[in-house]
Amino acid sequence: QKAEWAKLKDEPSVTADDKRVELVANIGTPDDVEGVLRNGGEGVGLYRTEFLYMGKSSLPTEEEQYDAYKAVLEGVGSDKPVVVRTLDIGGDKELDYLDLPKELNPFLGFRAIRFCLERDDIFRTQLRALLRASVYGNLKIMFPMVATIDEFKQAKAILLEEKDNLKQEGKEVSDDIEVGIMVEIPSTAVIARQFAKEVDFFSIGTNDLIQYTMAADRMNEKVSYLYQPYHPAILNLVSNVIEAAHAEGKWAGMCGEMAGDPIAIPILLGLGLDEFSMSATSILPARSQLLKLSKEEISSYKDEILSKSTAEEVVEFVKNITES
Ligand code: PEP
Ligand code: MG
Repeated sequence: QKAEWAKLKDEPSVTADDKRVELVANIGTPDDVEGVLRNGGEGVGLYRTEFLYMGKSSLPTEEEQYDAYKAVLEGVGSDKPVVVRTLDIGGDKELDYLDLPKELNPFLGFRAIRFCLERDDIFRTQLRALLRASVYGNLKIMFPMVATIDEFKQAKAILLEEKDNLKQEGKEVSDDIEVGIMVEIPSTAVIARQFAKEVDFFSIGTNDLIQYTMAADRMNEKVSYLYQPYHPAILNLVSNVIEAAHAEGKWAGMCGEMAGDPIAIPILLGLGLDEFSMSATSILPARSQLLKLSKEEISSYKDEILSKSTAEEVVEFVKNITES
């Protein structure tokens, strides 16, 4: 099996009926890029920038961040996309030196884009570093934990302000940076049609979307039985997001763990997902799996899959149609 996967390293990601999708990787540091290329990744679908901020005693400078973003863009290569997520701090990820208030419900609290919009000094430093690095590759910028259209508009306005500032300083900035959001809060998945008019792309963060939709803490073993990726409620939200993107000519990806799950892959393919972002080591197995799946055939069962009542029914149905 390993030998078969290795042969696919430089092949495109296509289905049995010759439909193309994109298989990209989740990374946490510039050092991870090597593994992405070794495993045949077609780019980076999620660069979690939190690691630049964690495990140290003060905020990373603009220069430090610029070096990291440039290293990733250059390492991946200018033809391949790199989706960088802006700071997603809070929730389970704390920063001692920021002295954030202790909260009763950190996962529902002051985190990610909520924090960045208030501490826009920190946000602007990151955006400047990203904008300056943008000339070294195919950068896409993604905001985490967006719950309202207004948050997206505010974040994008700050980005455009910093772009203008840099240009006035005589710095070079790419003019082709796509700006999108993670869809990981149910409110955003539900009104994806409205969001799709504003954003350039969606990336569905199922790790959080599942916990918020099912009201089941992703770290709490007592309720892990409710953490159900194949639950019809999740699949209907995912489908809604993909349809909304396509209706506006935008693309929809997924960067939660679900995107690399062999049981989920046929379902997501049938729902029309364009980009699957996963840990690098899952890419070649996924490419191999896709070669055996007919997108058109699975898509024809879309309404039936979305009408199931339980996760078990979904899984059994999908097994039957893909094994026959
Ligand atoms: C997600 O929520 O699915 C996601 C990819 O982000 P994180 O796991 O970093 O919260
Ligand atoms: Mg998340």
